[in-house]
Amino acid sequence: MRKKWTIIGLIVGLASTLGWLSNKSWGQPSPLWQFPLNPPSGISRGFEPPLHNWLPGHRGVDLQAHSGQGVFAPENGTVIYVQAVAGRGVVVIKHGWLRTTYEPVASNLTVGDQVFRGDLIGRVSCGSNHCCIGSSAKCLHWGLLRGHQYLNPLRKVDIHIRLLPIEPALANHKPINPK
Ligand SMILES: [Zn+2]
Repeated sequence: MRKKWTIIGLIVGLASTLGWLSNKSWGQPSPLWQFPLNPPSGISRGFEPPLHNWLPGHRGVDLQAHSGQGVFAPENGTVIYVQAVAGRGVVVIKHGWLRTTYEPVASNLTVGDQVFRGDLIGRVSCGSNHCCIGSSAKCLHWGLLRGHQYLNPLRKVDIHIRLLPIEPALANHKPINPK
C-alpha cells in the first residue's frame, strides 16, 4: 500500500512540476518586454487567432501608429527576415523560442543582425498593408510566433491595454504570412 501512495505522490509531483514549467515558459509574461512603440499606443485591432491555419483571422495586434514613427526591439534578438520592398517592409526577429514580426516597416537591418532591447529596428512606412490607408499608416501590425503557432504579443508587455473601435477601412483585412 505504501508503494502505491508513493507512486501517486510521484505522479502528482510530476504533474505539478510540468504545470509550473508550462506556466513559466508561456502564460506568465515574465520577464516583461518593452513595448515596440514609444510611448506605448492604443490597440486599433486585437488578436483574433483563427480556429484553423487556413481560416481568416488577425494573427497579431495593430498598434496605433503613424508613418515615420520609430519601431523598437521589445527584447534582445537576432534579425531572421527583412523584406525591404518599399512600403511593404516586414521585419522578423528571433528571441530564443519566439519570433516577433513588424509591418509595415522600412528597416536598414539585415539578416543576422543582433538587436538589443530598445534598439531602433525601423520606421513605420506605408504601402499595401492593412495598416495603411493610401500612403498613410494608421497602425503597426505586431505578431508573435512560437513555431507555427501565433500568440498574442500583448501578453509579453505590461501596459494597460486600450482597445479602440475598429475603423471601417482597417476592418478590410488580409492575413499575413511572415517567414
Ligand atoms: Zn494587423
